[in-house]
Amino acid sequence: MEHDVIVIGGSYAGMSAALQLLRARRKVLIIDAGLPRNRFASQSNGFLGRDGLPPKQITSEAKEQLLGYQTLEWVDGLVTGVIGSRDDFRVTTADMAEHQGRRVLLATGVRDILPEIPGLKDRWGKSIFHCPYCHGYELNQGEIGILGSTQMSIHQAEMLAQWGNVTFFPNEAVVLDDTERAKLMQAGVFIEPTTIDRLEADADVVLTDGRAMTFAGLFVAPIVEPGTALPTQMGCQIDTNPMGQKLITDGMKQTSVPGVYACGDVGQMPHSVALAVGDGAMAGAMVHRSLIWPDA
Ligand code: FAD
Ligand code: MG
Repeated sequence: MEHDVIVIGGSYAGMSAALQLLRARRKVLIIDAGLPRNRFASQSNGFLGRDGLPPKQITSEAKEQLLGYQTLEWVDGLVTGVIGSRDDFRVTTADMAEHQGRRVLLATGVRDILPEIPGLKDRWGKSIFHCPYCHGYELNQGEIGILGSTQMSIHQAEMLAQWGNVTFFPNEAVVLDDTERAKLMQAGVFIEPTTIDRLEADADVVLTDGRAMTFAGLFVAPIVEPGTALPTQMGCQIDTNPMGQKLITDGMKQTSVPGVYACGDVGQMPHSVALAVGDGAMAGAMVHRSLIWPDA
């Protein structure tokens, strides 16, 4: 069966795009590997009407609604290759199945590259976060530690001062000039110059001089990159900025490869569930337009 659109990635952005296309009675195939970016967190905050719910509850209710549309096919699997061109793409999954579609929509999300601090990975999404709007409120204006990772950490420390008492650890990953140091001090941020040995308990920072500091929560600025090698394999142009990488798209959400579209974290910044859902809705409508008016 030929699909109008093959959506790769069936999380917030991909399902939101698919919903628009299904409501236009288009044949949509969603292929999803089931690893959304926020799977490490027990709560998803800040999405209107769904504030504080487990991420899985939001996606499984959405999926249930989508499956009510007759023209949807859903495959749980990992896409390993996309060949072909506009109107005739062939999408292959890890089990070697091949699917044909007229358009491809990448909603594959991003991967977070985190600094190598012992104890960080286990606490990611539990007591260590990156987005203040997502997880700042729950810290109840308590003690917040910022683990320095990139120059973006300076901005993060300044922001988080709105959510509590901030201690910033440059941790030899961030170099502060006099202006930046003054800016942080002005915001009331305490700068701890000693390097970090490891993280312990809920959100304790143990320093290399043996001191330990307890926090309500920790923040770190990740570098992001596309969650899959597909965009590079397909030749999609990628933009690199201080926060990482995103696919370049035009006003119609089309990548630099004709017929290949992108939405959600993989193609826009900043990142959140609400923004991924909004971007997905836009992409769904734009892909639909390209099917109605191929030359537009
Ligand atoms: P994702 O949700 O990452 O989904 C991408 C999907 O594509 C995944 O299911 C993946 O398996 C699939 N995929 C990737 N490659 C392939 C492939 N080759 N084949 C098939 N499928 C593939 N935002 C909030 O608004 N509120 C929060 O509280 C919040 N908390 C967060 C906590 C943490 C720890 C992190 C890291 C992020 C958090 N975010 C939060 C941000 C939020 O997770 C993202 O903005 C959102 O998930 C982006 O949605 P998306 O659909 O673009 O990508
Ligand atoms: Mg995405």
